[in-house]
Amino acid sequence: MSMNLVLMGLPGAGKGTQAQKIVEDFDIPHISTGDIFRAAIKNETPMGLEAKKYIDKGELVPDEVTNGIVKERLAQDDTKNGFMLDGFPRNLNQAAALDKMLAESDRQLDAVINIHVQPEVLVERLSGRYICRNCGATYHKIYNPTKVEGTCDVCGGHEFYQREDDKPATVKNRLDVNIKLNTPLVDYYQKQGVLHTIDGQQDIDKVYADVKEVLNSL
Ligand SMILES: [Zn+2]
Repeated sequence: MSMNLVLMGLPGAGKGTQAQKIVEDFDIPHISTGDIFRAAIKNETPMGLEAKKYIDKGELVPDEVTNGIVKERLAQDDTKNGFMLDGFPRNLNQAAALDKMLAESDRQLDAVINIHVQPEVLVERLSGRYICRNCGATYHKIYNPTKVEGTCDVCGGHEFYQREDDKPATVKNRLDVNIKLNTPLVDYYQKQGVLHTIDGQQDIDKVYADVKEVLNSL
């Protein structure tokens, strides 16, 4: 039995938390593209050196290079009983490449776990951060509000601001880019019959209970 997984979820959906829990419970490596890029570059693998050329120029790494780096990683021994990909595939071209590289090693995807949260809720989660103008203490409208509304817990100040990155319009733009990339992938895996959509708006433990139920059924 193998557990070859892809974990999907928009920024703010709580993918990182779920990834950590999955890795703790199931003995499979967590393969995040950010991490394998850093490792491939550090170890100067052929694909790592290739990727570095683009990164140094501030350019987007082409799919062929990204695919190559993932392929190098999936050839390692610790993926024999399964793996969890995170941050890959990002588009249909990469998804097709993944299918091909798995087929070449007599493997297939067993499940794609998609942690789903409504975009409006994600905007709320991601744009909730605000900062005290006087002392710099940071708060979050949902997760960490001031004890008294409009008053800084630390210094008693009443003026707050948001960083450009945390403003709802900026957050919404960033999400839209991700939604455009994600939607075709979700359709692709739906058609393959491997997609499991998990309601990410429940509390964290309930989300994980649902994830676990899927993984235990594989
Ligand atoms: Zn303050």
